[in-house]
Amino acid sequence: MATTFEDLKVIKSILKGLGEIGFETPTPIQEQAIPVVRSGVDVLGIAQTGTGKTAAYLLPIFSKLIKAEGDDPRVLILVPTRELSIQVGEDIEELTTYSNLRHAAIYGGIGWTKHADLIKPGIDILVATPGRLWDLYKSGAVSLKKIKTLVIDEADRMLDMGFMPQIRQLLEVIPVKRQNLLFSATFNEQVETMSQEFLVSPERVEVAPSATPAQLVKQSYYKVPNFKTKLNLIQHLLLDEETFSRVIIFVRTKENAESVFKVIKRKVEGQKRILHSNKGQNTRINAINAFKEGDVRILISTDVSARGLDVSMISHVINFDLPQRYEDYVHRIGRTARANNIGEAITLINPAEEYHLKKIEAIIRMTIPEVEIPAEVEIPPTPKPESQGQLREIDRQKKIEDPTFQGAFHEKKRRPGEKKNKVVNAPKHLSKTKKFRKGRGGR
Ligand code: AMP
Repeated sequence: MATTFEDLKVIKSILKGLGEIGFETPTPIQEQAIPVVRSGVDVLGIAQTGTGKTAAYLLPIFSKLIKAEGDDPRVLILVPTRELSIQVGEDIEELTTYSNLRHAAIYGGIGWTKHADLIKPGIDILVATPGRLWDLYKSGAVSLKKIKTLVIDEADRMLDMGFMPQIRQLLEVIPVKRQNLLFSATFNEQVETMSQEFLVSPERVEVAPSATPAQLVKQSYYKVPNFKTKLNLIQHLLLDEETFSRVIIFVRTKENAESVFKVIKRKVEGQKRILHSNKGQNTRINAINAFKEGDVRILISTDVSARGLDVSMISHVINFDLPQRYEDYVHRIGRTARANNIGEAITLINPAEEYHLKKIEAIIRMTIPEVEIPAEVEIPPTPKPESQGQLREIDRQKKIEDPTFQGAFHEKKRRPGEKKNKVVNAPKHLSKTKKFRKGRGGR
């Protein structure tokens, strides 16, 4: 018989609301983590977003807290980003509909007095980004002396974002006698070191190896010769509003986010808003909310901005380019196919990205099928600086694989008066568009 939330001893006040929000049965990480967290030991949880890992630590925490008590928080949940802080806050709100447990979610970027007001009436659970919490603590707006449970969520991202010093600082002021729960989407050496530093004899719970993409995501990729063609292709795809009903376009940089936004705003019907890291805090939150509510069909995001973004019913994830870190590919595509919805992830790669795609395929232990660019999509020739950049990158990759590699692309010795950066040995397919389209066979 399948395990139920009753079997996992979730308290009544919480059980009552679970059915209403569509939590019928525990997810594998919940099944594994809830009894271990309840037992009081430290826990290292390896689970990606989308697996139900937030409720996996929240449900046993609620059972421990039982009901509202005192003014000072007893549980501290540290998260790396504002979006995740808001998200976890919303999850608590939803799960505690029939409980009187109180919480506040705080994060940087807006005036801290507003957050101090949220804490003042008394709370049981505090969700916070490390820097903002430290500000509040120093100003005397929050007391941490009652903390009995510490959760560090998305530990891998905490490390990437350089939050270790702030976390260490906070740990000096919270009681030593406490239960620690550390959750991470991936497990690597740094996460291991972090768990050794913060956890005492932890019990490890894990669902699926760290880089397994959601099984339900249908993945494919297009080989696209240049940036302009990528823009033409997404523009073409997005014209089909019925199929591409709710889309996240991932881009590596803020600049690319801006270019993609400008083009689709001009060319694609419907209402869209842009979400990327250098936009003001309010614009970002508004864009996410509008997207969640379905007012926005297309959201453009960098990897950083998308952390903690939890929207179901996303029809497509489009990778305009490949992410800097290979694991982020898994995070990106995990945004679709949530809660058993079938989703699709489409990746556009230029010749210099083929190398990275192969690495990603090796990590996810899957071969991603290639799809031909539709005939209607215009494929302009690659501008010289762009093809030079690609060739240089391909050379760099070849050198990584074979340090003795001389480089197919190198600068000709300049004669007096000759211009810099002339392309030598440029493979023809990079500049001859037609060939590129025809020349693509299977992999
Ligand atoms: P998370 O991995 O915490 O980001 O959760 C991913 C999504 O799954 C969220 O939308 C949760 O509300 C949802 N979820 C978590 N647990 C369950 C469950 N037991 N049944 C159905 N949905 C769930």
